[in-house]
Amino acid sequence: QARRTAMGYALYAGSLDEDCTRRLTLMGELRRAITNDELRLYCQPKVDMASGRVCGAEALVRWQHPQAGLVSPGEFIKLAERAGLITPLTHWVLEAGFCQAYAWQESGLDRPLSINLSAQDLHDPSLLDRIRGLFATWGNRPELIQFELTESALMDDPAGALETLSRLKQMDVELFIDDYGTGYSSLSYLQKLPVDAIKIDQSFVMSMVASDDSAIIVRSTIELGHNLDLRVVAEGVENEAIWERLATLGCDTAQGYFIGMPIQAGEFSDWETHSRW
Ligand code: C2E
Ligand code: CA
Ligand code: CA
Ligand code: CA
Repeated sequence: QARRTAMGYALYAGSLDEDCTRRLTLMGELRRAITNDELRLYCQPKVDMASGRVCGAEALVRWQHPQAGLVSPGEFIKLAERAGLITPLTHWVLEAGFCQAYAWQESGLDRPLSINLSAQDLHDPSLLDRIRGLFATWGNRPELIQFELTESALMDDPAGALETLSRLKQMDVELFIDDYGTGYSSLSYLQKLPVDAIKIDQSFVMSMVASDDSAIIVRSTIELGHNLDLRVVAEGVENEAIWERLATLGCDTAQGYFIGMPIQAGEFSDWETHSRW
């Protein structure tokens, strides 16, 4: 039976061969997308909960596919990881991100931009030199560049992660543990990492008003983070009720649709001027 995916491709479910064909097509197209300038940088605001002011943005990549339209990274990041395409993709995001962060810096808008790195980036021997090169090219202030690494990426190869994070930290950037709560990291391990903040995974935040279990996880993560001298960011703040609960719990930073959707990087400063935040 024919089915349309979000990619806009008709495919016939149930056949492994056809799934393989589709994946191969997408991989080829993704390779083209990176070289043909089909990627777009989107940014989502983060708000400081105490002041209610914008305190930064997260860089989120999109794929402007010539036929399918805007494709979200949920559909192609995993594919890129498997196809060995994450390195060129990350390099693209780094260049676009540093360029945008520099534009904000030049216009007097001091908004740190956080860039997502994937597990494989921690094994990219050119990563650190590339980042150093971008700092040299643009002259970004280090405190306006941040990196997010998922808890599971850090647990993949703890020794390698510690090494790369330490070198990043020597550049005076800020480091975030992303999707916190979905991996199985131990407190003793976390304490060794030179990170500045943890981001509570959105699955817990989105359900914290409806589910007591989620509320307990969010509350204890905020306490744990603060006990370790880390700032705590909640992602997936979708409505005011969640915001209120997080404020009561002393969460530092909020990100989510209640505050703002990801928008094109070039529109971010206009958005900020006209938003209530
Ligand atoms: P993430 O790093 O956890 O990013 C947050 C995701 O949650 C984003 O999805 C964002 O649009 C979405 N989101 C934000 N607020 C809300 C909310 O209130 N409710 C809900 N339901 N969702 C919200 P997006 O942009 O589709 O990205 C998905 C994932 O793809 C990201 O998850 C990240 O793991 C990965 N990704 C995105 N951009 C990059 C990138 O440049 N490099 C790498 N390596 N991964 C990226
Ligand atoms: Ca992230
Ligand atoms: Ca996340
Ligand atoms: Ca405003």
